[in-house]
Amino acid sequence: MMIVKFLFTLLAVVGLVFARTLMKLAVIRKRVDREIAETRVAKILSPGVVENLTVLPIIDYFKAREDVKTEAGVSYHITADGREILLDVGANGKKEHPSPLLHNMKKLGKELKNLSMIFISHVHLDHVGGMKEQKSGEFSLSAGPVELPRIPVYSPVNLKPSAHNPGVEVKVIKDPCVIADGIVSIGAIPRALYLLGYTCENSLAFRLEGKGIVLVIGCGHQTIEQIIQRTRALFDDPIHAIIGGLHLPAGGGRLKIGPIDIQPIVGTDRAPWNKLNENDTRAAIEAVKSVNPKLVALSPHDSSDRSLELFRAAFGDAFQVIEVGKTIVL
Ligand SMILES: [Zn+2]
Ligand SMILES: [Zn+2]
Repeated sequence: MMIVKFLFTLLAVVGLVFARTLMKLAVIRKRVDREIAETRVAKILSPGVVENLTVLPIIDYFKAREDVKTEAGVSYHITADGREILLDVGANGKKEHPSPLLHNMKKLGKELKNLSMIFISHVHLDHVGGMKEQKSGEFSLSAGPVELPRIPVYSPVNLKPSAHNPGVEVKVIKDPCVIADGIVSIGAIPRALYLLGYTCENSLAFRLEGKGIVLVIGCGHQTIEQIIQRTRALFDDPIHAIIGGLHLPAGGGRLKIGPIDIQPIVGTDRAPWNKLNENDTRAAIEAVKSVNPKLVALSPHDSSDRSLELFRAAFGDAFQVIEVGKTIVL
């Protein structure tokens, strides 16, 4: 009798949690639909161009040389006609000082004092410097004091600098906008993720002279389909390159909490038992193929070895895996 009562209570609790999650998700979906509809998207009339563009991965899951650190996070150092941009600031999972970000920047000959701006794609732990930062809506470059020049920090949502790197101004950019000549924010695209809830992500587009648009993406929660649709709405130019994370952990991700393989069940709007799988990777490949880019560089921080393999098979010589320390010259 006791067992029946216990099972009945357990079932009722699970049912309630499930119903509550679904209700919350429905509310978030409405908000997402409204925000996408309200975003001002029109052809950018004077986007400008950049003539020289390089992307140097500072933080990612694989590395091209021995003296740098890796983690399941993202930070890319981008040089566009002399302007130095840091897209995201890594995960710093062990709360080190200097962080893997600072360690790798030093090894790769990059200095914070030369940065023109920091661009935060979205507020997830692997992009803002840790879980604590994600929870408190902050970003942190290291677990100790860091001197940042007084540069703008762009974010799709409200974000504060942590006590370790104070004094910078965070600018929230929702709508697509030209940040500098040839450097465009495609604008925030929100998504209702099943477990993570409301997630708003932004990506950078560089208009490279004579070649077209180079997209640099953090985690790709917006979905590559939405990113491509937005980019086509903003530019007449072809998409020349797609670089960064697309969250395709088919067959097993990079982050485990105890026995739980986290990435296939987060970063999707589906229920946890309907994990991200090879079909998602194949759908992303079809979307990328539709714009025929000359270069596809995929981040291993949130895509599995299997997804990397499928991308390599689909794009051949046009494909490369992002590795810390291996400069991508566009
Ligand atoms: Zn993310
Ligand atoms: Zn990520």
